[in-house]
Amino acid sequence: MSTYSAPLRDITFTLEHLAGLPELTTWEQFSHADSDMLYGALDEAGRFVGEVIAPTNVIGDQTGSKLNDDGTVTTPAGFKEAYARFVESGWGTLPFPSAFGGQDLPWVVGIAVVEMLKSANMAWSLCPMLTHSAIDALIHHGSPEQQAIYLEKLVTGEWTGTMLLTEPEAGSDVGALRAKATPDGDGTWRITGSKIFITWGEHDVAENIIHLVLARTPDAPPGTRGISLFIVPKFLVNADGSLGERNDIKTVSLEHKIGIHGSPTCVMSMGDDGEGAVGYLIGEENRGMAYMFTMMNNARLAVGVEGLSISERAYQQALEFARVRRQGRAIGAPKTESSLIIEHPDIRRMLLTMKANIEAMRGLIYLTAASIDRSRHHPDEAQRVRYEELLALLTPVAKAWPTDRGVEMTSLGIQIHGGMGYVEETGAAQHWRDSRIAPIYEGTNGIQAIDLVLRKLSLRKGDVARELFAEMASLDADLETAGEGFVSMRESLASGLAALETATEWLLSCEDPNDALAGATPYLELFGTVAGGWLLAKGAVAASRALEENGDPFLRAKLTTAHFYCTQLLPQAVGLVPSVTAGAGTLFNVDLEQLT
Ligand SMILES: Cc1cc2nc3c(=O)[nH]c(=O)nc-3n(C[C@H](O)[C@H](O)[C@H](O)COP(=O)(O)OP(=O)(O)OC[C@H]3O[C@@H](n4cnc5c(N)ncnc54)[C@H](O)[C@@H]3O)c2cc1C
Repeated sequence: MSTYSAPLRDITFTLEHLAGLPELTTWEQFSHADSDMLYGALDEAGRFVGEVIAPTNVIGDQTGSKLNDDGTVTTPAGFKEAYARFVESGWGTLPFPSAFGGQDLPWVVGIAVVEMLKSANMAWSLCPMLTHSAIDALIHHGSPEQQAIYLEKLVTGEWTGTMLLTEPEAGSDVGALRAKATPDGDGTWRITGSKIFITWGEHDVAENIIHLVLARTPDAPPGTRGISLFIVPKFLVNADGSLGERNDIKTVSLEHKIGIHGSPTCVMSMGDDGEGAVGYLIGEENRGMAYMFTMMNNARLAVGVEGLSISERAYQQALEFARVRRQGRAIGAPKTESSLIIEHPDIRRMLLTMKANIEAMRGLIYLTAASIDRSRHHPDEAQRVRYEELLALLTPVAKAWPTDRGVEMTSLGIQIHGGMGYVEETGAAQHWRDSRIAPIYEGTNGIQAIDLVLRKLSLRKGDVARELFAEMASLDADLETAGEGFVSMRESLASGLAALETATEWLLSCEDPNDALAGATPYLELFGTVAGGWLLAKGAVAASRALEENGDPFLRAKLTTAHFYCTQLLPQAVGLVPSVTAGAGTLFNVDLEQLT
């Protein structure tokens, strides 16, 4: 079984050179922090996560959460204690406003902590992740009174949060949901209905759970225009802040899943015992979907982090295995003994593929997270608008591209282990099983691709995307200055970018939306692959500048990894163009009868 060691140098390198953290700390909003202080804090967080959270990962997978006869849920051994220490440590509070118990730190620093938590135990990390989504919704849309009652407890983690959207007939199509909200005459509402797949809907790690529930009010218009958002606490909160009556919202069963066994995924019912669960309307009636959208960027990004985190964990384990397992004889090795498998080219190829993809994912995710900070706090208003647009464009890519990679990278982790990866004893299989959910929830990756091609590419008639591509192209001047060693990187980056531009212009000029939809998923893959190459190349330029001052092997590895990605993985992006631009013809020419 592997341990987890937070990759702090990689994290700080990405924060420094790809996310531009030093610039953020010059702004008024973050003037109480400087980069060194923040890196020191992340060091502490890494130690905490490795010592307290990571040891709960395997036991959580093996035993899972259990539903008891009285409707309570018992989480795996160690989860509750780890959560108590997490609350005590304050690591969940970093990016939230100090007015509600937070630390007013950049979102991108909070994301670095999230990365570590998710590597340590993805199932456990979903509890704070859903709480963060609930906090976001309340900060943006809660009334001052609601904020006063709930926010501080959620920010500190004393209470946890959930999101109740999905119903059996309403998955990707949230607008089809049927849960009902009826006014109670005293300003509160009564909520009835069932929800499925609710992450951490019931548990034993905190004393109260604040459910955010989507439901329809009487006479609401059909579809997404008729959905309202409600606070439905597990325990009602008295005027003095103490816990009151148990609300009529229950977990009726737990889902049996491929992975993330420690995370209780609940089927929930409201109103079984009477008129309904007591709910409090957030904002205005019928604005629920609009409110969800404001917090979805952050939630989608947090799921994107899972692809990165689980790949990192699988990589650490695969590397450890490859350094001790002996098989065969590498070319040129002494005849007397077998070689470590890490000496074989195919194992090195897999390890480097994992490492390069992990660095590309980290670059993309941290850049997107820093765009949240820039869109909120950049001193120049025009820049705030620009980063808001960039954030909108990057978010579906930052959710889907890393989570698809996560499944592939954890599969490579198993492959490196050979048969010992396929059996459960080593734990390599857990990472792959855990990774599989991330392309599905928080909007499937198919839905993210549709969002990218139909809504995001057309922002300012395509100019938001074109401006990003121009920024990518401008790196070429730095690569040229960096010297001869960067020639092949420049060539493959130029080809990848040309492919991305061709595919983008084709999509923007599509007359039949079905043609664009048919190419959406390969386009998102093309986008992510090229953006990853750009970010690794940018990191390589920074590393080569720093290398002139010292011969640090860490920096040299940055160059090798970027070179590997740009010359061996990035060229695959060019091959995606025909899939993007094929149109829907072939897909609809298929006789559905012939698919049986
Ligand atoms: C472990 C787990 C935890 C979850 N946690 C939560 C939670 O906390 N709260 C919550 O509310 N929900 C949660 N969900 C629900 C999750 O968000 C949904 O499963 C997801 O949105 C997909 O919905 P669905 O399962 O109904 O699939 P469907 O919507 O039925 O999709 C099936 C397939 O059809 C595709 N598809 C659907 N519509 C279209 C379209 N218009 N165009 C093209 N393709 C389409 C999808 O991409 C997918 O491939 C969770 C799910 C799981 C499994």
